[in-house]
Amino acid sequence: MSQQGYVAAPPYSQSQPGIGGFSAGFGPSNSSLHYGHYGDPNSSYSAPQPGVSKSTVPFGSSTPVGPPPPGTHQFSQTNFQNGPSTPGQQPHRFQGPPPPSNTGSSYPPYSHQSQPAYPNTASTSSTTQLANQLNSMQINSYVSCSGPGTAPSSCMSSGHPASLQGPQLLPPTQQQMALPPGSQGPPPANSVNGLCAQPSLPPMARQDGIPGPVAPNPNLQQLPGQPPGPGYHPQQANYGPQMAGSQLSYPGAFPGGPAQLPGPQQKKLDPDSIPSPIQVIENDKASRGGQIYATNTRGQVPPLVTTDCVIQDQGHASPRYIRCTTYCFPSSSDMAKQARIPLAAVIQPFAIVPPNETPLYVVNHGETGPIRCNRCKAYMCPFMQFIEGGRRYQCGFCNCVNDVPPFFFQHLDHIGRRVDHYERPELSLGSYEYVATLDYCRNNKPPKPPAYIFMIDVSYRNINSGLVKLICDELKTLLDKLPREEQEESSAIRVGFVTYNKVLHFFNVKSSLAQPQMMVVSDVGEVFVPLLDGFLVNFQESRSVVINLLDQIPEMFADTNESETIFAPVIQAGMEALKAAECAGKLFIFHSSLPTAEAPGKLRNRDDKKLLNTDKEKTLFQPQVNSYEALARDCVANGCCVNLFLFPNQYVDVASVGLVTMCTGGTLYKYNNFQLDADSPQFLSDLRKDIEKKTGFDAIMRVRTSTGFRATDFFGAIYMNNTTDVEMAAVDCDKAVTVEFKHDDKLNEDSGALIQCAVLYTSISGQRRLRIHNIGLNCSSQLADVYKTCETDALINFFAKSAFKAILSQPLKMVREILVNQTAHMLACYRKTCASPSAVSQLILPDAMKVLPVYMNCLLKSCVLVGRPEIPTDERAYQRQLVTSMGVADTQLFFYPQLLPLHSLDLKSDTIPAAVRCSEERLSEGGAFLLADGLRVFLWLGVSAPPELIQGLFNVPSFAHISTEATSLPDLDNPFSKKLKSILEHIQSQKPYTMKLTIVKQREQSEMFFRQFLVEDKSIYGGASYVDFLCCVHKEICQLLS
Ligand SMILES: [Zn+2]
Repeated sequence: MSQQGYVAAPPYSQSQPGIGGFSAGFGPSNSSLHYGHYGDPNSSYSAPQPGVSKSTVPFGSSTPVGPPPPGTHQFSQTNFQNGPSTPGQQPHRFQGPPPPSNTGSSYPPYSHQSQPAYPNTASTSSTTQLANQLNSMQINSYVSCSGPGTAPSSCMSSGHPASLQGPQLLPPTQQQMALPPGSQGPPPANSVNGLCAQPSLPPMARQDGIPGPVAPNPNLQQLPGQPPGPGYHPQQANYGPQMAGSQLSYPGAFPGGPAQLPGPQQKKLDPDSIPSPIQVIENDKASRGGQIYATNTRGQVPPLVTTDCVIQDQGHASPRYIRCTTYCFPSSSDMAKQARIPLAAVIQPFAIVPPNETPLYVVNHGETGPIRCNRCKAYMCPFMQFIEGGRRYQCGFCNCVNDVPPFFFQHLDHIGRRVDHYERPELSLGSYEYVATLDYCRNNKPPKPPAYIFMIDVSYRNINSGLVKLICDELKTLLDKLPREEQEESSAIRVGFVTYNKVLHFFNVKSSLAQPQMMVVSDVGEVFVPLLDGFLVNFQESRSVVINLLDQIPEMFADTNESETIFAPVIQAGMEALKAAECAGKLFIFHSSLPTAEAPGKLRNRDDKKLLNTDKEKTLFQPQVNSYEALARDCVANGCCVNLFLFPNQYVDVASVGLVTMCTGGTLYKYNNFQLDADSPQFLSDLRKDIEKKTGFDAIMRVRTSTGFRATDFFGAIYMNNTTDVEMAAVDCDKAVTVEFKHDDKLNEDSGALIQCAVLYTSISGQRRLRIHNIGLNCSSQLADVYKTCETDALINFFAKSAFKAILSQPLKMVREILVNQTAHMLACYRKTCASPSAVSQLILPDAMKVLPVYMNCLLKSCVLVGRPEIPTDERAYQRQLVTSMGVADTQLFFYPQLLPLHSLDLKSDTIPAAVRCSEERLSEGGAFLLADGLRVFLWLGVSAPPELIQGLFNVPSFAHISTEATSLPDLDNPFSKKLKSILEHIQSQKPYTMKLTIVKQREQSEMFFRQFLVEDKSIYGGASYVDFLCCVHKEICQLLS
């Protein structure tokens, strides 16, 4: 195959106006009317008026179901998130379109020469897999809750054996299970609070199957919206010793093996009989793991995010880049409203691909730039249909017929496909990059390489704790690891240094200097940059001056007694420095305290536990002062991304100080009560990973869709000035934007629902590029097709992000109610429209949503959605911010942690043990377990854990000798230690945050904190157990169906 095909030297003299990469897609406002609609620009989708909140309706529907009052289903987006869309204030970026002019450099086209061609190996295995999957979706899971004809309101009443009926109505292929009558039902739907804290059967009753009245456990009956009852004494940062005794009875070894569905006569609820996330994960691994997944079929459901496989791009973007909540959209908006399944895509545009998968090809059309549809500005992609012998093409998004530019002309083969189809990434691949022309650059000038500015809080506490010295020492080696393009020898990224307390210190580290020079800016009200030349430098050139500076900084401030700090002026200073240097970049801010010094962005401690569970609780998640919002807007407009490393030992108002980070695509890290010895490894690992991360700078993302639907809402570490341009000062490999779609017309089942995501960005070497991801989904007028192709992991990602956004504007209680209500609604609609006829009392779950209730319950129990005085407000704001930019794999793990048994390890094998369900029942006194959620990892040890295991891991003779102080394990030369280290390494790999290890001993105080990660159990904060939540959802479904 000729690689030359990608050079495609354009016949510049013939280039036609309107075809070159004019910047309409990212351009000024006069072109924006073309996006997303093809008729009257005012018809349905106009930019919001200043000051008017956009109604986003993630949970909204005109179908009046459930308790929340009409109108309140709609979450409204606040200005806080996206800022006022003030006409005239939009930064005029990427101005155009001027006539094409010479580009400064020519980039190697199609740069991955070593990659194998991608022949059309329409993999039979993947087709088979799909067929198998579709077949298996016919199997439903049933939970019988009450008998046929039982009124929904009494569906949950306990002690009626007659209510355990229904299995005889089941088709033979369907499975059913019974909930014990003693397992109490939820309250009436109109009092569901989203947490359904029902008393559940005590373990004894569960085991012997005796139904009957339940002795309510006062500890577990607590509703989150109410003051703590007598059984629970909230204590500050202390999870209550009273729970450590009688509560901690483990019923012995966990019952491994696949979940079993009991037969019709079953009268007790075996925890194994309700759908198990572990089983779903393991089944998918067994059927699809280790295989090649080719993306050659529209609407194909990919393997689960937890399944390891090799992905081959054959025309649709890899699921590493895009995952959808369903791979078949309902064809009409009425159907969509009926089912209320969110239609969304989780897009992680810079996701890391493993070494055994093909990296993205780069297409370079020289000065002509990318080929785009004249009308909708979509980029050339596999969805364009070539016609008239190859002279024209029809756009798959807007159906406009466009001329093929002469340089791009190619003949068609006997099936109407261009003969160079497989030689051009933009014709045959789901994902690829374009080299952008000057029209796509700020001020039509090629961008400069980005810069990293390190800004260190040198107030008393940071100096005294040794943190400043730690940072400076680490930077000396880290600066050699700045990211670079593969073909380049050294990084093009320039670096700069600032320290601050109440004032700012800039440093001149020009290579010609013998000593670094410090310049103090004490007017923090109006920050200016005191030097341009010598502030941002190439580390290799200025190495000796920079090292000298990093040696001096800890000494320079050694005697400081300044305890007050500023914060907003620090960001302002970094942003102004990047602006003055005319480049994009990242700030790395290392900060410890609430910024109380007199300056813009000054904050006071406004944390108030009395606001919990009131309508004002939402204010705790909003910034305290407006200046951060304006600062965020300025940062985005100047391509300034803010990474924030917080080291608080008290309230620092994460909701305020984290806002700019959130809006600029930055990452927030938080190390509570940072202790140099215990916490350095975690912090340094985070810092290292962040500095080395592949990142796109000064990015703007546009999501285009085929006719009939459009992107209506966006969730992520993003900023939006209008309704279509997703701005990110930077976007790294871990950041995902979740996009919700809504119908604006009927969808065509033949042409499907096509999505193109284009991210314009500046690379680490300063190239302006476009990264294009395309995916095609099916459409159907049968809701069964929609339910069949749902992906629960993506659904939970969407629900989490939309709920976490909604809490800015709505009471948390209402947000939780909406989540419960929508879960019930989706399942009720399935029952009504798709399932075979059966008793009303049966809970029927579509196969693809089998574990939606358990995951939804985990989301509902998240500390972000549950206000409890024991949970620090900053922790909630922090987790809210983290989840907002997470991809599907990260939210899956975060909401349903991985629990790995260690006592039964096969020490000879390399494999990771299969996880068990996150429940206390799976723990055993004689066992040891690892639990990880992506932020933390716990090593839990049973009181009778095998001595050889304890000796092997800790080098101590017994359980009693284990210290829980350690945050790492000793390096020991034995199989146990090596195996555990390798497991820890494995679960840490590809995770955005370094997980700090906590050692937990059974029946000790620290176990109470650990227990809240056993997400199938009733939570110490009042969240329902999985079983209780299932009953609660069932109850709601019964009401909806009646
Ligand atoms: Zn078009």
